[in-house]
Amino acid sequence: MLTQIFERMESEVRTYSRSFPVVFTEAKGARLHTEDGKEYIDFLAGAGTLNYGHNNPVIKQALLDYIASDGIVHGLDMWTKAKRDYFETLEEVILKPRGLDYKVHLTGPTGTNAVEAAIRLARVATGRHNVVSFTNGFHGVTMGALAVTGNSKFREATGGIPLQGANFMPYDGYLGANIDTLDYFEKLLNDKSGGMDRPAAVILETVQGEGGINVAGIDWLKRLEKICRDNEILLIVDDIQAGCGRTGKFFSFEHAGIKPDIVTNSKSLSGFGLPFAHVMMRPELDKWKPGQYNGTFRGFNLALTTAAAALREYWTNDTLERDVERKGRIVADRFQKIAALLTEQGHTASERGRGLMRGLDVGSGDLADKITSKAFKNGLIVETCGHDDHVIKCLCSLTISDEDLLEGLDILEACAKDVMS
Ligand code: PLP
Repeated sequence: MLTQIFERMESEVRTYSRSFPVVFTEAKGARLHTEDGKEYIDFLAGAGTLNYGHNNPVIKQALLDYIASDGIVHGLDMWTKAKRDYFETLEEVILKPRGLDYKVHLTGPTGTNAVEAAIRLARVATGRHNVVSFTNGFHGVTMGALAVTGNSKFREATGGIPLQGANFMPYDGYLGANIDTLDYFEKLLNDKSGGMDRPAAVILETVQGEGGINVAGIDWLKRLEKICRDNEILLIVDDIQAGCGRTGKFFSFEHAGIKPDIVTNSKSLSGFGLPFAHVMMRPELDKWKPGQYNGTFRGFNLALTTAAAALREYWTNDTLERDVERKGRIVADRFQKIAALLTEQGHTASERGRGLMRGLDVGSGDLADKITSKAFKNGLIVETCGHDDHVIKCLCSLTISDEDLLEGLDILEACAKDVMS
């Protein structure tokens, strides 16, 4: 296997190739192949970017047809047929049936671009600077998004430049199961000496992905929305990882019946792993002046084409939603079983998640690393998350076959047992 070129030329900043040091060649559905003929089941799925699997045939065909017809690939943010088709499909298939009225800001193509634009819009729209974020939240690594991200590894990488404009509040469950952390937030808001500048917005993930698969309760989310409304604070849901069906609904906030003022999407939005992101906002909040927030790659037409195909294929009925619920229960049951086995051996372990966004908390980064490294040797790609990388995270594609799902879970269970023996 020729890997010297990567080690010689690629920056030390590389990450995933350290955990999975093989050269991948092809992928289909939930399976990846390497150039030395090995096959892996994929529980990572591009960190939640491949919800519809690798090289999904329907979405791929839409892309191939578009390219074959010499469709516009790059057009800055000019109007194209692909963009019209995407907007029409988004409105008809996703927004109208959910009673949502949003305008769309096509930002640069990565998640952090969307988060930057969302929090800046909140500041422009309210004239306030402060954004409230939550412990263990992850929103990206550009300066604005990083300021609302908790993880010190990323925060330290600014080289000492201060990260500004954010206040962190305890996420649901941060202070233990019996404490409603919103009591603290609400108290600060109502305390003239609380020390918190009145926020423009609150930004959160309804299930924290990088932060450890921490799930915000339904009542907690409803109360947060009410606090925001009562105090004229904008509610931003960062649905970059939890959106596009990952939790069992297209938007993760649908479970709580709340309506954020601003929503960010990326990762699985293109449906095919193509870079694509956008911000959706209540129309009244669209305070941008023409060209005030720009970028060369906004609304990549290939991604608009695949995104529309994905919506048409998977979101015009509830088949996928029901399947995510069902598969989510399969993963939850197996994770509970593995957690019980680990607990019997004296480890602190538990399972949590929503839909197919599931975590197996094994209590220590060291143990999680031992299990996932062994899993990789045995043909499963799965990553860890959380402040100590102590949570094994299942982000398999939503379209994974039951056979692949069960085989992946079998590998994980066998590796956990192996590591304990
Ligand atoms: N927001 C959330 C919730 C994420 O999970 C991520 C990435 O993992 C981001 C933002 C940043 O996205 P990107 O890595 O595409 O910049």
